[in-house]
Amino acid sequence: KFVKDTVIVVFGASGDLAKKKTFPALFGLFREGYLDPSTKIIGYARSQLTHSELRAHIEPHLGKPNGKEVDDPKAEQFFQMVSYISGAYDKDEGYVTLRDHIEQFEHERDVETPHRLFYFALPPNVFLSVAKQIKKLVYAENGLTRVIVEKPFGRDLESARKLQNELGPLFSEEEIYRIDHYLGKELVKNLTMLRFGNQFLNASWNKENLQSVQISFKEPFGTEGRGGYFDNIGIIRDVMQNHLLQILTLVTMERPQSFDAEAIRDEKVKVLKAVQPIDVNNILVGQYGKSEDGTKPSYLDDETVDPNSKCITFAALNFNIDNERWRGVPIMMRAGKALNEGKVEIRLQFKKSYGVFADIPNNELVIRVQPNAAVYMKFNAKTPGLSNESQVTDLDLTYSSRYKNFWIPEAYEVLIRDALLGDHSNFVRDDELDVSWRLFTPLLNYLEGPDAPTPEIYPYGTRSPAGLREYMKKHNYVLHSKNNSYSWPVTTPT
Ligand code: NAP
Ligand code: NAP
Repeated sequence: KFVKDTVIVVFGASGDLAKKKTFPALFGLFREGYLDPSTKIIGYARSQLTHSELRAHIEPHLGKPNGKEVDDPKAEQFFQMVSYISGAYDKDEGYVTLRDHIEQFEHERDVETPHRLFYFALPPNVFLSVAKQIKKLVYAENGLTRVIVEKPFGRDLESARKLQNELGPLFSEEEIYRIDHYLGKELVKNLTMLRFGNQFLNASWNKENLQSVQISFKEPFGTEGRGGYFDNIGIIRDVMQNHLLQILTLVTMERPQSFDAEAIRDEKVKVLKAVQPIDVNNILVGQYGKSEDGTKPSYLDDETVDPNSKCITFAALNFNIDNERWRGVPIMMRAGKALNEGKVEIRLQFKKSYGVFADIPNNELVIRVQPNAAVYMKFNAKTPGLSNESQVTDLDLTYSSRYKNFWIPEAYEVLIRDALLGDHSNFVRDDELDVSWRLFTPLLNYLEGPDAPTPEIYPYGTRSPAGLREYMKKHNYVLHSKNNSYSWPVTTPT
């Protein structure tokens, strides 16, 4: 299925994303046999780098699965496929060199239909210059041109539309791949299968059976001296408007008619359009302060942030979807930095049983995206032995114990391969982006406007701002007391 002699150009090759994600993903695909050895990879940036300097920049980040050392012979072969061109982003000169380099390669290989993939590992202020220059000088007129763009796709509805209006005349929607790397994560990709491939879940995935849904993102560290970037962004733009909203759409969309990319994206847009405006009076926002023992700094201690910043490092929001499936079910999203742990999970709490079983805890289905990918269902069973008491236990699929010696690709590996194959299913479409900004922009305007609420200060390393428990309760989440003695893993029945 691979197009031979593909050319991949990584713009911003000297940067952080390129070294940590883009090149390692290309290497991972090559190592596993999913990137044809005939591929040409060209790094492009302004920095003057020799081939060996570029290699030294990238190589420490190329890992084998399970954190082992890099596979030397493969790395050697990989770097033979890589070259580097130094040039400005907004002047013809570098692009003329790039074009000559590409054309010479394609000529030597007798390529009839060029396939060129351009990866923007670049800050957004240069997106447009690079896009224009590609169109002018290196576009594959008689072949395939694909462009992978990284977030941020604007910072509100207006700027996102402006960017789209500028890119639109240069590249068709078919040619643009807006990457949201959460869409490449194994358990996010598994959501559609879990929901629609298991009739027992499919049948109960609705307001009749579910009483609350939570999508949580927790990070155990703060900005650690790099808050200058974050201060301008905040937690909502950083992870909620993009990554968590993508999860939300996959959890709530209707069954797509087929696995065709447009069929899936049509359903995602449809459900997003049914999401009601976010009620700014029904949010919980926080900013981390010093840890309780005083050893970890507060957000405002970060010298790169504005000392009076009201930037939020934690938010809990609620979504209501006005359709047959979801009307009345609170869908909470929460995300925070400097908390007690790092994790991303989806938690669906079912309604209670009734009659003689009315007192036993609610079922919960948890899909843990990271770390330690797992899907587990907390369910009730009779305590083993002579007792007739119920006990909470679990049906558990923990990937690390279930799938041994199995290569689970990194998100960027999945997505770059999809783009090479022309599969848009896991990329964000223009209208999807537009609806997501329409949803979040009024909230962002409120949080950044004159009436912005003062964020609740929570200690670094805590579970959440103190108000979260009440917020969850208000949105139908029942926290069962530990008296029901659920623990994981359980070894001895009690
Ligand atoms: P970066 O390291 O700051 O920039 C990439 C390269 O672009 C730099 O090596 C530099 O190369 C050039 N550059 C930097 N600032 C520039 C400026 N003001 N004008 C012109 N060129 C400039 O950025 P990054 O962290 O790799 O991120 C690239 C993109 O990916 C951004 O859109 C970012 O939001 C997104 N992203 C990054 C990550 C991550 O983990 N880093 C994760 C998700 C998304 P030369 O000076 O050599 O030209
Ligand atoms: P839990 O600890 O009962 O927590 C359930 C939910 O209630 C979470 O949203 C949690 O928030 C919240 N919560 C718990 N205590 C709270 C408090 N005092 N105040 C406010 N909110 C509170 O979760 P669980 O699903 O039963 O899991 C328990 C442990 O077992 C977890 O560590 C889980 O990873 C582990 N487990 C692992 C697997 C597996 O790896 N396969 C399977 C089953 C269980 P937070 O999300 O902020 O904690």
